[in-house]
Amino acid sequence: MNPSKLWASSLAVVSNLYERTIKGLSRGLRCRLCLGLSEETLCPACCADLPWLPAMQRMRHRPYGPELAAFSYEFPINALIVSAKYHRAIGTCRLLGELLAVSLARPAEPVDCLIPVPMPWGRVLKRGYNQAEEIAATLGRAWDIPLRVDALKRRGWQPQQQGASRRVRRANLKAAFIAQAELAGRAVLLVDDVATTGATLEACAEALYKAGTSRVGAVVVARTT
Ligand SMILES: [Zn+2]
Repeated sequence: MNPSKLWASSLAVVSNLYERTIKGLSRGLRCRLCLGLSEETLCPACCADLPWLPAMQRMRHRPYGPELAAFSYEFPINALIVSAKYHRAIGTCRLLGELLAVSLARPAEPVDCLIPVPMPWGRVLKRGYNQAEEIAATLGRAWDIPLRVDALKRRGWQPQQQGASRRVRRANLKAAFIAQAELAGRAVLLVDDVATTGATLEACAEALYKAGTSRVGAVVVARTT
């Protein structure tokens, strides 16, 4: 894509959000970030200020396949992601899913299903939900791609990955995931909130390929760069 087309595509995303936001200012709703009047969850100024990744940096080649991200993991997206994880904020998960849907184009190649990165069951019990699943559900509705939450499972308890080195993460994650054989021959997209080292997504992809999945890609809200 030439630079003018890239610019036009980024501009179209911001304009789309702006129009949706402007539509219902009269309804007296407030922007989630600045608390100004806004029909949509985020006002135009806050939308424009989000740490959008330039179009050319959204796709990154990983060993298993392409990884798409909409944002750089910076304020306020990092704060929204933390809120989605720890503050029982299902609405924030949906907002992140909507932002993904409006900023990333639906993949051109066929995708059979979206698979949220599973959390250890103990953490799901504690939080009451898996934020990746909520984000994937919103994205799946927007892209009209079915969601499969039972196709990839996490074995037992896993230590927190936050703050761990890449080597330690890999050791922790080795053999942590198991995929259903019915995924053989399918093309799937993993969905998660944030990609740091990419080790979790790689471990998921490894389990999926072991089950015979034909193609694996990933979509994340934000990437640490
Ligand atoms: Zn705002």
